[in-house]
Amino acid sequence: MTIKVLGYGATQVKANLAPLHFERREVRADDVEIEILYCGVCHSDLHQVENDWGMSHYPLVPGHEIVGKVVKVGDKVTKFKVGDIAGVGCIVDSCRHCSPCEHGLEQYCEAGFIETYNGIDPHDNMPTYGGYSERIIVSERFALKIPKGIPLEAAAPLLCAGITTWSPLKHWQVGKNTRVAVVGLGGLGHMAIKLAKGLGAEVTLFTRSKNKSSDAIRLGADHIVLSTDEAQMQAVKGKFDVIIDTVPNVHDINPYLATLSLNGTIVLVGYLGPLEPFVHSFDLISGRKTVAGSMIGGIPETQEMLDFCAEHGISSDVEVINIQYINQAFARMKKSDVKYRFVIDMQSLKQDK
Ligand code: NAP
Ligand code: ZN
Repeated sequence: MTIKVLGYGATQVKANLAPLHFERREVRADDVEIEILYCGVCHSDLHQVENDWGMSHYPLVPGHEIVGKVVKVGDKVTKFKVGDIAGVGCIVDSCRHCSPCEHGLEQYCEAGFIETYNGIDPHDNMPTYGGYSERIIVSERFALKIPKGIPLEAAAPLLCAGITTWSPLKHWQVGKNTRVAVVGLGGLGHMAIKLAKGLGAEVTLFTRSKNKSSDAIRLGADHIVLSTDEAQMQAVKGKFDVIIDTVPNVHDINPYLATLSLNGTIVLVGYLGPLEPFVHSFDLISGRKTVAGSMIGGIPETQEMLDFCAEHGISSDVEVINIQYINQAFARMKKSDVKYRFVIDMQSLKQDK
């Protein structure tokens, strides 16, 4: 049995997003049905619509920063009741049994995790569709509790931008006495600054955008480095223990490697593709440095991050939009013109009913 749902999607590569009807499964015993209130707009949504990673299937309904109200629960659901506020991030299922899944690292599931959109649910072979839509149905195991105190629209981006930066910050043990740098001030970058600061680190932002300096300071950065200014880059040589690189396009990471300290690590979370030009191994070898990557985060650590944010008064800086503005929002995101996350007010979808 299926239900009909209205969303916004792309019917072919690079198509403008437009209203689209599609089907979702009915609630299973361990499922919750969530009426979506807000959905963040991640740069990955744009990559997927444009098939930048060569694995998009159409029609494609993006959105993996979902916050909404539980409207129905299956018979075996224990974590949620009707009326609760719940979140869904990038993962809606996984094998649940392999070693990464058992360790709460579902994003590294050996069978591959099921993406919130552009995936196939192995239980019924139905395609998954994301949060630019009225409602979503998900196993309670993959739904998050949104703690009280975080405005719901500002909580939505935590489900991807928040966890994608939290997970490497925790894995590389960022805390007091850690010098962290963040490359790029967009959705992920602004959360990386807030979370690293919340963990007690000294935080530097690398940006190409001069006009973002005052915002960066307000968001919690201690220092700003204009990455296009050679003298400023020289001045921070050897300075950082951990760099979180959120740049969504091909770019040269060698200038950032030079700013790592002995044993420092640069964690790539933004660009998914071949590194160009080559990485200078001399720089790695002479400073015992690491180039690493990190993929979103698991369900337990996402809950940990949400609770940390509630405790520390951290949330996303958002520009709330109507769904009808989504194509302009994508165009602005391409120009790095977003402060610092677009979030769709899903009530606006009613205009297309
Ligand atoms: P965003 O909001 O567009 O921010 C990206 C920022 O990077 C821009 O604001 C800009 O900051 C900087 N930038 C853009 N183009 C650049 C270039 N050519 N060279 C140098 N800097 C550039 O994007 P986002 O939503 O934060 O996502 C960033 C990337 O992370 C995307 O590729 C997304 O797909 C990926 N992502 C990965 C994961 C994961 O699991 N690893 C999860 C979510 C997203 P300045 O103006 O400050 O320079
Ligand atoms: Zn995302």
